[in-house]
Amino acid sequence: MSCSYRQLLLFDCDAGRSSLFNNLEIVNQIPLNCQCYLFWNNNDPQITLNLNRLSQIEQRIHLCPSTLRNSKNSADAKLIYFLGKFVNDFPFILIVHGNDQIYSEVISTVKSEFNSQKIEEKQINESPHSQMLQQIIEQCQQRNRKWNCVDSTQIQRLVINKNKCFQCTKEFKQYLSLYDHIKSKHKSVSCSIICKCNLKFANRQDYSRHKKTEAKRTRKAIQCSRMNSFPNLFIKSDSLPLLLSADKNNKCPFNGCQRLYKSDGFIAHLQSKHKNDIHIQIQCCDSAIKRTLQEFYEHIQSQHNIVDVEIIVT
Ligand SMILES: [Zn+2]
Ligand SMILES: [Zn+2]
Ligand SMILES: [Zn+2]
Ligand SMILES: [Zn+2]
Repeated sequence: MSCSYRQLLLFDCDAGRSSLFNNLEIVNQIPLNCQCYLFWNNNDPQITLNLNRLSQIEQRIHLCPSTLRNSKNSADAKLIYFLGKFVNDFPFILIVHGNDQIYSEVISTVKSEFNSQKIEEKQINESPHSQMLQQIIEQCQQRNRKWNCVDSTQIQRLVINKNKCFQCTKEFKQYLSLYDHIKSKHKSVSCSIICKCNLKFANRQDYSRHKKTEAKRTRKAIQCSRMNSFPNLFIKSDSLPLLLSADKNNKCPFNGCQRLYKSDGFIAHLQSKHKNDIHIQIQCCDSAIKRTLQEFYEHIQSQHNIVDVEIIVT
C-alpha cells in the first residue's frame, strides 16, 4: 500500500540548531515521506561545513542556506518563502525555530486558511542536540501511523545479509564484490551500498569518496562520529583526561609550552616535542575503552565500513 500522506519539516538552523543533525544515524531515521528543508545564514563556515555533510541523504534533506551576507533575518525570510511555495502540497508542516515572533504570525495565518492541524511549531532555544531530532522523528512516525501511512519504498526494499546474493545465492567475502556481482548480473534491480553511518550510495565511487572524506575529516579533528562532543585525551596512562576542543584552544600541559593549538596541531606538537614523556590514549564513544592514537584512527575509519547491500525491486 502506498500513501500520499507527506510531511514537510522546515528547520531554522541558526543559533546552534544545526547540531540537531550531528548524528547521522538519527538523521537517517527520518521517514521517507518527510521532506526536510534546512535554512541558515550562510556566513558561518562551520555550520555550512557541518550541514553540507547531509547532502548525501538527497531524498529527504534539502539544504537552503541564505545567500545574503550580514543580514540577520535572511534565513527566516527564505524559510517563509518555502512555506508559501509548498503549503498546498503537504497535509502537514512543522516549523522548528527559536522563539522568533515572525513565525507565530505565519503559523496562525496557515491555521486559519487551512485547518488547525495543518501546521505545528517546535521551539528549540537551549543547547540543541541530536536527541531532539530523535523526538521530532518519533512524532513524525506517530503521525504516519495515525494516517495508516506505510511507505511503499520500505515494502519493496530487501536488504541482503550474510553477503549472499538474493537471486543466485552465491556468497561473497566482501560486500563490495557482492555489490559488483548484483550490478553486473542482476540488472533488473537497483542496488546500493549501505555505510555503517547509514548513508546509502548508488555507486562505488560515491561511497569511496565518502569514506575517504569522512576519514580525513574525523582524523584531522580527532573526532569520533558516534559522539556529539570531543573525546578525552590522556597524555600518560595515569594522567587526568584533557577534553579536546575543536577551536584553537588546546593548551599543552607541559611547563614552558604556552601556545594554543587546534586538535590536530596539538597531537602533532605532543608527538614531536614530548615524544619521550607521553603515552597518548583517547577515550571516545565507549567510556570503557582507551585507544592508542593508531587504534583510534582505525576505529574512526571503521565507522564507514560497508554493512550491507540493499536492492530495490522496481
Ligand atoms: Zn546473483
Ligand atoms: Zn608542549
Ligand atoms: Zn568512538
Ligand atoms: Zn559513512
